[in-house]
Amino acid sequence: MSELHSFMFEGAPVRGRLVRLTDAWQQVLQRRAANSRTGAWPPPVAEMLGQMLAAGTLMVSGLKFEGALLLQIAGDGPVRLAVAEVQSDLRLRATATLAGSVPPGATLADMVNVHGRGRCAVTLDAASRQPGQQPYQGVAALRGADGQPFADVAAVIEHYMRQSEQLETMLMLAADEQVAAGLMLQRMPGKREDSDEDWRRLVTLARSLKREELLGLDAETLLHRLFWQEKLLRFAPLEGEEGPRFACTCSRARAAQMLRGLGEEEVRAVLHERGQVEVGCEFCGQQERFDAVDVECLFAPAATQPPAPETLQ
Ligand SMILES: [Zn+2]
Repeated sequence: MSELHSFMFEGAPVRGRLVRLTDAWQQVLQRRAANSRTGAWPPPVAEMLGQMLAAGTLMVSGLKFEGALLLQIAGDGPVRLAVAEVQSDLRLRATATLAGSVPPGATLADMVNVHGRGRCAVTLDAASRQPGQQPYQGVAALRGADGQPFADVAAVIEHYMRQSEQLETMLMLAADEQVAAGLMLQRMPGKREDSDEDWRRLVTLARSLKREELLGLDAETLLHRLFWQEKLLRFAPLEGEEGPRFACTCSRARAAQMLRGLGEEEVRAVLHERGQVEVGCEFCGQQERFDAVDVECLFAPAATQPPAPETLQ
């Protein structure tokens, strides 16, 4: 089960969060992999998206905000667009658009910043936003002040938090085909003179974490291993219905509505040619398949249609 843990350090103005996306992340991967048109993402793209989802979850959970947080990288390499969207209630989804092959071992810069024109936007789209009102958007640089490209998503977000939010942040992210995980420490505006030392000590402890540990250890073991000498104040973890979970707005009813909009002639032509009609969700990759009988039902006169299995949203 995917989970999000929050904690504070007693006596030090530092807060931390740990996210482990398991079932939610696997659903993201499976939908894409099952799409007969696209197939699975190349491993470096999947890893980047998993890291973006873990980062987005950590970021949104620290905000007093209702709505969606989007991390969007518009790339100038083989990955044209990578998007991770996390709602403040921790529903999440991710997608990527590819324009070329991504070799194994490709770095972040290889994928999205080949010519130095890649951009990463952080958008907060408030649920209360009025039509015509723009969502808040910040830009996260993909290169440091020294002109060197950041090695990974974690470095990009750390830099962004420091520059835009004035929050000293330590972020570690990792993803494989089972788990997308992240650990974040943030320094609260502290009053104590000696809090520099606390911050440095806690960051050093956190940085000793290895990728395999972040991916493989459960939250209890991981936090104990890193911070067993510290006094940790833990909050109840968010998991299950309250925790990070996959959600997309697509549905079979929406796909059916789209086909009706396309028109009977067009849909029957595709059916004739391919034996079935497939509609894929642009965001999560979920494919809905309509065979000859389904197509008959789609365009049958209203009176003979069976009741809709789900209502449109
Ligand atoms: Zn979808």
